[in-house]
Amino acid sequence: MHVLEVQHLTKRYGTVQALNGIDLAVAPGEVVSFLGPNGAGKTTAISIMLGLRRPTSGLVRLFGKAPTDRAVKARVGVMLQESGVPATLRVDELVRLFQSYYPYTLPTDEIIGRAGLQGTRHALLGKLSGGQKQRLYFALALAGDPDLLFLDEPTVGMDVETRHSFWEQVRGFAAAGKTILFSTHYLEEADALASRVVVINKGRIVAQGTPDHIKGLSADTQIRMRTNLPVQQLQTYAGVRRVTTENGHIVVATPEPEALLRRIFREDWQVADLEVQHADLETAFLNLTEEAAA
Ligand code: ATP
Repeated sequence: MHVLEVQHLTKRYGTVQALNGIDLAVAPGEVVSFLGPNGAGKTTAISIMLGLRRPTSGLVRLFGKAPTDRAVKARVGVMLQESGVPATLRVDELVRLFQSYYPYTLPTDEIIGRAGLQGTRHALLGKLSGGQKQRLYFALALAGDPDLLFLDEPTVGMDVETRHSFWEQVRGFAAAGKTILFSTHYLEEADALASRVVVINKGRIVAQGTPDHIKGLSADTQIRMRTNLPVQQLQTYAGVRRVTTENGHIVVATPEPEALLRRIFREDWQVADLEVQHADLETAFLNLTEEAAA
């Protein structure tokens, strides 16, 4: 059975179509990353999966049941971007408070250890640094020893070192066979943690696969040129991943620019204004989004 299943999920806020038909099935033990730029719909998708917001249409099932089901809630841990946690409590008090919400919990010391909070267990929440707060929220998400963990942009505001040690903690949790779904803006983070990367943009899944597959897409090179080679013919050439047109130019994304250009020249097509450029992740998102919209 799938731990998480989502079918044809849509969400509209007034005139904003935040989600535009998301389908996803996650098996036990998968670590899935939602990767996408600001406003892509990641937080909305996670909130709906948690039953915190209602979808406009579509179906969500966690462990085969509605996300608001009591038995489901006991098996789910959450780390959201905003936590309405009282700042006047101490780290260990908050951990105990959250433990009390769950029928089954991990020992307090283990939770504190897993989140790397040994040194700050008696500190007031209000006195913690941004990175320490994030660790605390991670600890609170672990309180019920969840089988399924949602992390919404968990490393925002962390410096590089804190981020890397946080990744270690997440890996430790995943190694126990738990299922994790987290969102991030960073391909590097998705690559470090995820078994599957789901790229979201403008409310749609525009690509998914292993981190290597996704890195491959963003590693495409872009060839820009004016040419008399028809687009439809070019699309059939080996190594051509996408062809778009832009102000009379053709833009081709390909992992093998040299081989492709050799063929175009060998076949004696006219080529002018030729530019070859490595695509960054932003460009890859844009290309993927245009492709999904087409
Ligand atoms: P970020 O990475 O910035 O957190 P995100 O991928 O999580 O972005 P969402 O927060 O889900 O994206 O937002 C998706 C779209 O829905 C955006 O256009 C956003 O402005 C809009 N949106 C989100 N929440 C609301 C709301 N409560 N009311 C109206 N529009 C909203």
